Amino acid sequence: MILTHMCPHCLKKNKLAGKFHSRFEVAQIKGEKFEKECRHCGKKMEVVPNDVVAEENRFSGILFLMILVLGLMMGYFVITNYVDRNPKMVIGLLLIIPILVYTTYNKSEMSKIRDFNRMKYD
Ligand SMILES: [Zn+2]
Repeated sequence: MILTHMCPHCLKKNKLAGKFHSRFEVAQIKGEKFEKECRHCGKKMEVVPNDVVAEENRFSGILFLMILVLGLMMGYFVITNYVDRNPKMVIGLLLIIPILVYTTYNKSEMSKIRDFNRMKYD
């Protein structure tokens, strides 16, 4: 999950550094109103916790691909070295494990994002 807020001058997204689980946490740590410099246009802007929006981290997709490739490589290794076992089952298992890991991870990410965006700070 990444946190972003829009610049009112250039309407581009800025990332909010730090780990926050809710807008209340943002308000607690950053303040009810904080100033930031836009990394696109360089202008100063005022951010309130309700401007902050949670989004999916694109990195998690890349991570999943890496796990999948690693799984396939391991599968290839296992099959070429232990051909007497059932190769279809080995491939199946090696594909299922990264998918399971990813869906579990993705589900918890999605619920974190939903929770963050649902609760407004007032
Ligand atoms: Zn800007």
